[in-house]
Amino acid sequence: LFVTIEGGDGSGKSTQAALLEQWLTDEGYTVVRTREPGGTEVGLLLREIVLHHRGDIPPRAEALLYAADRAQHVATLVRPALQRGDIVLQDRYIDSSVAYQGAGRTLGGDEIRALSDWATDGLAPDITLLLDLDEETARARMGATERRFDRLEAEKQDFHRRVRGAFLAIADNEPDRVAVIDAAEPVELVAETIAARIRPLLP
Ligand code: C5P
Repeated sequence: LFVTIEGGDGSGKSTQAALLEQWLTDEGYTVVRTREPGGTEVGLLLREIVLHHRGDIPPRAEALLYAADRAQHVATLVRPALQRGDIVLQDRYIDSSVAYQGAGRTLGGDEIRALSDWATDGLAPDITLLLDLDEETARARMGATERRFDRLEAEKQDFHRRVRGAFLAIADNEPDRVAVIDAAEPVELVAETIAARIRPLLP
């Protein structure tokens, strides 16, 4: 079972991934919890490049670095785990690239999806949990409420609005795969909602 967790910054993906891992482990399943970018040794090097040299990396180069990270991750960690019969819980996958590089950096969702499909040789998640959070709550969680509203801030807001819109559009297009979860709810409630979506899929 291949589960991906998607959402914007501050949506609580890592908290929910950890809770889901705990529950599944308690139920007796073998779980591999991993993330992108940086789920492998090579991927960590790529994560360092994409996150710490952002200002120097044009959008197409950035998209290729994410794709390289994903190709490495799927080939060396995710596919082998799925072949063993483990449950893979993955924080971010192709939908993040469609949202961030496709919509955020305006490279185009279809092109980015095609690139990712090639990079992963077509590996699709069985279910995707989209932790959706309204802008105000996301900003408050990230301590951004006090920030001065300048041009840079407006650009950032616009970027995040495009990212969220792209995630929701994916969910609209693929309702069978993508479960939209209201991430503004309390942590325990979100975890229960997620467990209810995962339970019927368990082997
Ligand atoms: O998932 P995590 O919060 O560690 O991601 C770190 C950052 O990487 C995110 O804030 C996002 O801006 C960026 N990112 C991206 N494109 C992706 C995945 C992550 O821009 N495909």
